Amino acid sequence: MRCLICEKFSLSHICDSCQKKLLTPKLSTRKILHSLPVYSFYKYGHIESLLLSKHTDVGFYIYKILAHRAFKKFADNFEFEEGVCSIAIDDHVRHGYSHTAILNQSLTCKSIKPRINILKAQNKESYSGKNYEYRLMHPREFTCKGFKEEYVILVDDIITTGLTLTQAVNALHVKGKEVLFCLTLADAREKD
Ligand SMILES: [Zn+2]
Repeated sequence: MRCLICEKFSLSHICDSCQKKLLTPKLSTRKILHSLPVYSFYKYGHIESLLLSKHTDVGFYIYKILAHRAFKKFADNFEFEEGVCSIAIDDHVRHGYSHTAILNQSLTCKSIKPRINILKAQNKESYSGKNYEYRLMHPREFTCKGFKEEYVILVDDIITTGLTLTQAVNALHVKGKEVLFCLTLADAREKD
């Protein structure tokens, strides 16, 4: 096949050279709920075309690559004294896969147990192109299934306003869970 970026022959959808050049993560941090860190591996603008692949079949392979380069590396270096689970937002299946479940699954390590289908949004409408006020007035209204771990890492692919993550954190708090931090592939904040 050909690399989707440079179009040279490649064994993967993105060749090794492009992966090294363009997909070496650079962690950035912002905060929601005043103090909860959200770590992002890439700037949205740098990988936008790759992120948009989630609306197609090829997104499965692209998200596998991104998950491997970002989330898996993170998990390899993560240690915590108690059991932690990771939970993805919006992990229902479209196009035969769930893009956030791919990210979540790649966190599997001795300290992190990924869990699936925990958070369900009652309101699934797309926020794409909607402003902050609209998103605020149309909350996701998450329901949360039970699970045994007290500590949680929340996973999503993109952080924009932070409202979706905030609502998910609140739904977990109601269940008595503590969210340690959130992990997203890309930060879509317009500044910097
Ligand atoms: Zn390439």
